[in-house]
Amino acid sequence: MNATHIGAIDIGGTKIAAIVAGPEGPLARVTRPTVKSGPVRALPDQAISLINEACAQAGVDPAAVKIAGIASCGPFVREHGFLGLSTPNLCGGHTAAVDLPNDWNVIPLEQVLRERFDKLVIENDCVAALAAERTFGALQGENDCVYVTWSTGIGFGLCVDGHILHGKHGNAGHAGHMLMTEQMDALCGCGNRGDLEGLISGRNVGRRLNTSTSELFRAARDGDEQAREIAAEAAQWFGRALYNLTATLDTRRFAVGGSVWLHHGDWLAPIVLEEIERRFPALTSGVSVTTAALGSLVADIGALSLIIPEEWIAPWRATQPWQKLAS
Ligand SMILES: [Zn+2]
Repeated sequence: MNATHIGAIDIGGTKIAAIVAGPEGPLARVTRPTVKSGPVRALPDQAISLINEACAQAGVDPAAVKIAGIASCGPFVREHGFLGLSTPNLCGGHTAAVDLPNDWNVIPLEQVLRERFDKLVIENDCVAALAAERTFGALQGENDCVYVTWSTGIGFGLCVDGHILHGKHGNAGHAGHMLMTEQMDALCGCGNRGDLEGLISGRNVGRRLNTSTSELFRAARDGDEQAREIAAEAAQWFGRALYNLTATLDTRRFAVGGSVWLHHGDWLAPIVLEEIERRFPALTSGVSVTTAALGSLVADIGALSLIIPEEWIAPWRATQPWQKLAS
């Protein structure tokens, strides 16, 4: 298919972004708070109207954008043969405990978007971020590698033997919910106690000192002993999880993104690396941990990377045209 333009949509729990791009790079990007009320198809309908809005901004005929890449928070389920979204942050039908103004159980993401696009690739946001880092970022040329985000949640994108792992419903990489201990009162949004996200997510770390996460990590950086202890312990849990993945998948390189890492990776990295390197050298020697290169735009660029025409990649690598989206 000879595309003149492509679309990309990044669906998060609080914000949705849509981009329209041409061979020379992204042309327009629009964002809105993610819709959380209305009929069950409100969210994919919102995505479509944002793509059309981006087209209008860019002066592109919406009919020219028939290919789209989607990066979305998960998890996914399959319903009537289509991928649907079953995200606790968005679907109010799951539990009365979460305060959401809807009774959605499964958002028919793929089914609705197929009405608008001829070609569609939908991936979890961390899988899309992995694709972005492999195409344009810190994981170029790496066949055995992992993208990790450490932010309000913890998520992974996994690549082994050059193949990006998907799993039965596209949920491979939800390893933030791997159990690390049941001995701590660390409750995750998924209901687990003592899984990785429960222990170290941006939501939970700060709670232990009754402060915000960003405050806690800032205090730790500035030398506050109690904050430092909690932050270092979080980095150890994180490092152990990376060790577990190394032992399971035999991967070589981790690229880490997310707000916690982007602000504090410089001093957390040695703690994390130590947790990997002091275990089973036959598996861990040569494993590296690096900071993701694409910053806060990684999922947006990831959504583009899922469907970018091959011949656009080299010029984009040379000119990095996504930089102008950062403003
Ligand atoms: Zn969990």
